[in-house]
Amino acid sequence: MSFVSHVECTVCGHRHDPKRPLTVCETCGQMLAARYDLERVKASVSKDALRQRPPGMYRFRELTPLDAGEVPVTLGEGGTPLLALPRLAAHLGMRRLWAKDEGQNPTGSFKARGLSMAITRARTLGARGFVIPSAGNAGGAAAVYGARAGLPVAVIVPRGTPPAAIAEAQIAGAHVFTLEGSILTAGRVAAKVAPELGWFDLSTLKEPYRLEGKKTIGLELAADLDWRMPDVLLYPTGGGTGLLGIPKGYEELRAMGWLAGALPRVFAVQADGCAPVVKAFREGAPTTTAWENPTTHAAGLRVPSPFAGRQMLRVLRETGGGAVAVSETAIQDAQRLVARLEGIWTAPESAALVAALRVLKGRGDVVRDTEVTMIFTGAGLKYEPPPLPSPVDLAGSEEELLAQVRRVIRP
Ligand SMILES: *Cc1c(COP(=O)(O)O)cnc(C)c1O
Repeated sequence: MSFVSHVECTVCGHRHDPKRPLTVCETCGQMLAARYDLERVKASVSKDALRQRPPGMYRFRELTPLDAGEVPVTLGEGGTPLLALPRLAAHLGMRRLWAKDEGQNPTGSFKARGLSMAITRARTLGARGFVIPSAGNAGGAAAVYGARAGLPVAVIVPRGTPPAAIAEAQIAGAHVFTLEGSILTAGRVAAKVAPELGWFDLSTLKEPYRLEGKKTIGLELAADLDWRMPDVLLYPTGGGTGLLGIPKGYEELRAMGWLAGALPRVFAVQADGCAPVVKAFREGAPTTTAWENPTTHAAGLRVPSPFAGRQMLRVLRETGGGAVAVSETAIQDAQRLVARLEGIWTAPESAALVAALRVLKGRGDVVRDTEVTMIFTGAGLKYEPPPLPSPVDLAGSEEELLAQVRRVIRP
């Protein structure tokens, strides 16, 4: 038995039995979320006990949907560092700036957390294979955890998905399909193909447990800051699993009395070329509408019609946060800046947060003393690098090589 009391619809509240494989609400078709018996969790684990456990996201086992004795499909995900960014902070006129470096996960992105959890649960509940529509990293992670579980995986991604994510899926033995269009088209194909194969559809937030994996970022963040919450949280937003998962983690800990005070103001960050959440937020709309012709090289942000638009907008509004879109050049500039000032080659999606922070600072939405945490969702290594100068090629005699180096670097 797990500590999950039930799984409920985030819109109509209809309750579902967690002993069955679950997808979306059987009455209204909306997103489901696991609810816990938090009194029982509190009676079963203490902050001290947690500290004694090995690092990683399964440290928070009682706040995961795992049954007693259920063995996770894991590669050691989670336990990523919350890095202080003093040089970047000074550059931006800030004082308290943090990044949770999710690029240090297996698979080089935070998708590892969600897919470890979802594939663990689905395997236990009898799944025989998986289909996943993806913008890249989720497909790679699904393939990797599928291999780890010994189950077949089909990955459907748009053409133009970063080659490393495709290679990651292929080398792990997945069937990989590319197509014209976006993750939206991939999702339609996955939804039709999965039942024909008798495989489980892992589409973003169309089953309740990827969210529980992403939630562990929030649980870790709480512990990382010694059971405090920052003032502001910046999240690079595609399908929104972390945007929903992190506050969910905070809220559960608050309900247990482990955290106090207001949740951080949550800001969704998107790219100018695909900003459905930003648009809906500005318009005061209750949910998102599909973005035409989504384009951005930040693949994880290329999600034109997120399934959980309604739920994301609710979080942004309830926490007093907001939504910001940034340009492709601002993303590339930020990617180089973060690497140069802090030594972190982060993914374009997370670099977008730094570009957005500039905007928020300019607008006065954050000030010098605001404590800001950014979720650096992936490693830059998995992507085509931003434009960089060519290295200086040395040629000639050893004397000439030295002369050329001296010409470039003057003491
Ligand atoms: C998937 C992804 C995102 C977007 O995450 P969502 O939970 O879908 O909003 C951001 N950054 C990277 C690197 C990703 O792989």
